[in-house]
Amino acid sequence: MKCKICSREAIDRDFCQLHLKAYQNIKVTYQKWNKALSVNWRQYLEHIQKNSLTGEWAKEVVKHLIEEDNKNVWKNKEDI
Ligand SMILES: [Zn+2]
Repeated sequence: MKCKICSREAIDRDFCQLHLKAYQNIKVTYQKWNKALSVNWRQYLEHIQKNSLTGEWAKEVVKHLIEEDNKNVWKNKEDI
């Protein structure tokens, strides 16, 4: 199976190693934010997308996650 974002081989959750790592960072940071600021997933994604400090890999993952969110692919938003 290929990564959802690039054409590299996917290793987990349909992401390649590089995009998976970026995804995991995004998820961990979200959990901290959610506790401290009670932002929701979508608000968080939009914020980091606009943040100039966000790395290129993370930006690609965020773009993908927002598209998924738009399509309402996830039935359970807590399951991220
Ligand atoms: Zn990838």
